[in-house]
Amino acid sequence: MRIDILTLFPGMFQGPLTESIIERARSKGLLDIHFHDLRTFGLNRYRQVDDTPYGGGAGMVLKVDVAVKAIEAVMDEGEKGNKRSKGNKGKPWRIYLSPRGKRLTQTKVERIAHKEDWLLLLCGHYEGIDQRIIDGGWIDEEISIGDYVLTGGELPAMVLIDAVARHIPGVLGKDESAAEESFSASLGRKKEYPHYTRPEEFHGLKVPDVLLSGNHKEIEKWRKTNLGA
Ligand code: SAM
Repeated sequence: MRIDILTLFPGMFQGPLTESIIERARSKGLLDIHFHDLRTFGLNRYRQVDDTPYGGGAGMVLKVDVAVKAIEAVMDEGEKGNKRSKGNKGKPWRIYLSPRGKRLTQTKVERIAHKEDWLLLLCGHYEGIDQRIIDGGWIDEEISIGDYVLTGGELPAMVLIDAVARHIPGVLGKDESAAEESFSASLGRKKEYPHYTRPEEFHGLKVPDVLLSGNHKEIEKWRKTNLGA
């Protein structure tokens, strides 16, 4: 999957996207992540990217002309022959991370992972973005990672990438399967059963006998009855 990230703070992605499973996926070529500093699309000699809101109030708003220039620059790569998205006919699926968006769920994560192979993620900052970026058709979907407000869209973008990447074939090793996990279809979208490992007893806390029994049918039954709601 190719992912283009439009952000004012590309440095924030160091760490979450440069370590562990995601780093491995990138070095195997399963995730091809491109960072675009919105500032490079800024206007005038100050590289202006935002402005004060019409109607007054605190904060700065990402300018429509700047954002559209950046989005179209990424889309031009599709025109140039880099046709990657099966879901959206050679265009990236364009997501704006926003508290006003629809909530990110496991079902949505799976849908994105299975249907799209090219994402464009727009990260807002400060007060947000000019609504015309959405109303003008430059964004396909607004996604929120929860009902709280963060300082910018960078952390939500990383959450989305991490959750989606786990469903791309080859990203997880055989010991890390995403098939039977909390919210997966195979667990009826419920929360997973509890896990235990050695030692069998710790400070008087014992591992349930059934898990030590070797009786797979009984273990299966126990796990089913211990799913979270
Ligand atoms: N004024 C906006 C509001 O009240 O809805 C909040 C803007 S927030 C401080 C700045 C940026 O952070 C947003 O443009 C968005 O990209 C990102 N952001 C903040 N909270 C988010 C959330 N829960 N989910 C996704 N993105 C979020």
